[in-house]
Amino acid sequence: AMTLIAIDGPSGVGKSTAARLLARRLDLFFLDTGAMYRAVARAVLERGADPHDEAACLEVTRGLHLAFEPDGTLLVDGEPAGPAIRTERVTRHVSPVSAHGSVRELVVARQREIAAEMARATGGAVAEGRDTTTVVFPNADLKVFLTASAMERARRRAAELGIPDEVGRILDDICRRDEHDSTRAHSPLRQADDAVRVETDGLTAEQVVERLAFLARS
Ligand code: C5P
Repeated sequence: AMTLIAIDGPSGVGKSTAARLLARRLDLFFLDTGAMYRAVARAVLERGADPHDEAACLEVTRGLHLAFEPDGTLLVDGEPAGPAIRTERVTRHVSPVSAHGSVRELVVARQREIAAEMARATGGAVAEGRDTTTVVFPNADLKVFLTASAMERARRRAAELGIPDEVGRILDDICRRDEHDSTRAHSPLRQADDAVRVETDGLTAEQVVERLAFLARS
């Protein structure tokens, strides 16, 4: 039987680490939905298109072929996306690009196709991203909404970046992003009614995965 697990939550909560580890542990495919929006944003910038121009972004999206290797590597037109989708510039522009409704429609359709392909190949997928439980896979077998206080997320992020003194500034960024993510028109961040809420304050990534694996079994 196919298993589909969707993991949602605010930025900096550790969704992608948790989803990747869970996928490895359950031998499921890892579907990184954010990477797909990053690839679109990167292509928009590469072609000199305006991230705020919906028609231009849609055209770029239509022209891209997005797929994943079984190991989770994103392929853009057959080539590994690599670190180019994780630059600061792409990170800055991915939000306006992914806010266009018509772009989301195409990307979401592709995500569903990919999940179906992966389910046939590996038995299922762990999909991670901020609308995976509400919009992309509302019928997932398990829907998880990860949470952590803004302060905890800021501390983790500062530690990860090796700048523990800048927790205050990072906390400001996170609060601003939360506000923006939860009030935007398309796919605002929200917990699905039937998603299991998992509080991660004080838990290590391994402890989080332990809980998720338990939920997946029950
Ligand atoms: O998860 P990641 O930080 O790579 O996502 C990059 C950006 O892509 C997010 O900040 C968000 O703007 C967008 N995104 C989205 N819907 C998703 C996943 C990501 O709009 N399902």
